[in-house]
Amino acid sequence: MMPTAWAFFDPRGMGITLSLSAALLALTLVISHRALGRRLPGMQPAAWGVLLASVGFALNMLQGWLLPMVGLVLAVVCMVSGVALVLGGVRRLRGLPVGAGMLVAVCLASLATALYFGVWAPDARWRIGLLSLLLAALAVRLTFTAWGEARAPFHAGMRLLALLGVVFAALMGLRAVAAALGQIETTVIPTPLNAASVLAAGMSLIGGVVGLVLLISGDLLAQVEQQRTHDPLTGLLNRQGLRQWVGAQAAQAPVALGMVDLDHFKQINDLHGHGMGDQVIRHLAALLQACETDGCRAARLGGEEFVVVALGAGHGTALLQMLEQLRQQFAEGAPHAGATLSAGWAQGTVAGFEATLREADAALYRAKEAGRNRVETAFSAAA
Ligand code: GH3
Ligand code: MG
Ligand code: MG
Repeated sequence: MMPTAWAFFDPRGMGITLSLSAALLALTLVISHRALGRRLPGMQPAAWGVLLASVGFALNMLQGWLLPMVGLVLAVVCMVSGVALVLGGVRRLRGLPVGAGMLVAVCLASLATALYFGVWAPDARWRIGLLSLLLAALAVRLTFTAWGEARAPFHAGMRLLALLGVVFAALMGLRAVAAALGQIETTVIPTPLNAASVLAAGMSLIGGVVGLVLLISGDLLAQVEQQRTHDPLTGLLNRQGLRQWVGAQAAQAPVALGMVDLDHFKQINDLHGHGMGDQVIRHLAALLQACETDGCRAARLGGEEFVVVALGAGHGTALLQMLEQLRQQFAEGAPHAGATLSAGWAQGTVAGFEATLREADAALYRAKEAGRNRVETAFSAAA
């Protein structure tokens, strides 16, 4: 007699292979996350969760060869608590309350179900039905948690986790119904539903690791981008970041610039040390940051040289007033008494940004020449 097609998809062989692969991947994830300095809170429990669930899944596939306490009860506890850990970890990754009480309650319910309907009064219908429902509930909650992620670096990873949650929850729901109808007796005999369940569960575990890896790589990419475009001392945009921001604006948009430079800053460093110098730089950066709006950005171009860029018609005069206020505010409240700044102002369009920057720089040079602690404008040169 010809074997049925499903006989080729032996749940036991497939399940063991998939679960061991997932366990190995999850272990690699735990190690890599540690090596990267454990940057993401929640990643560690989530990765351990996949590992634990994979071990439980492998034990479950060995039922019949192992004692029921191991092949059934321990396997179930590992699987359910593993998925619960993944959910708790993903909730932490999202910055949401973990809901540990509920997760522990689900794990205890699965232990009671496995003990009662697996060992005490064996009943596959109730055991598989209830456990499938518990796993489906965790998967539904995982889907909602992951789907709600709004931060761009985590979008791809969370979407993948949400998708896996849907597939897993649908499958567990189907198993619960099939179990209630008396259609499932064990997880390991080759039936279409068992083969599909094992395949989907194994792929969900492997896909879960991929989703978590996407979260780590998204976070690292965002960190690299932040370092590429921001100044580490002040947190302001650097020259590269400013160019990127200006480049994203309409070419014909009017733009006003204020070049700001600390006066005799070298002396502050020489007389009071670099620590004081850095403090003065950070103080000025905080004042500049307070001026930022949707159409206005401040950047540290290098050393003790900053620029403020205001977009839009009519913002030129406002920026000029702001520079004058900044000069006074800084002279009155700098960490080092007597520290002052000079500024140069110019306006143009986004397309002519570099030329306008040179004009503002020339105005700044005139402010220095004229005795410092003042704001000069580009048109005062032409006048
Ligand atoms: P001027 O009024 O003409 O602008 O004179 P200045 O002394 O401010 O200008 P100068 O260009 O001669 O010196 C700038 C100094 O800024 C030299 C450098 O050591 C210092 N500097 C550059 N970056 C940093 C930094 O990140 N921290 C500190 N503490 N000092 C810095
Ligand atoms: Mg200076
Ligand atoms: Mg300078």
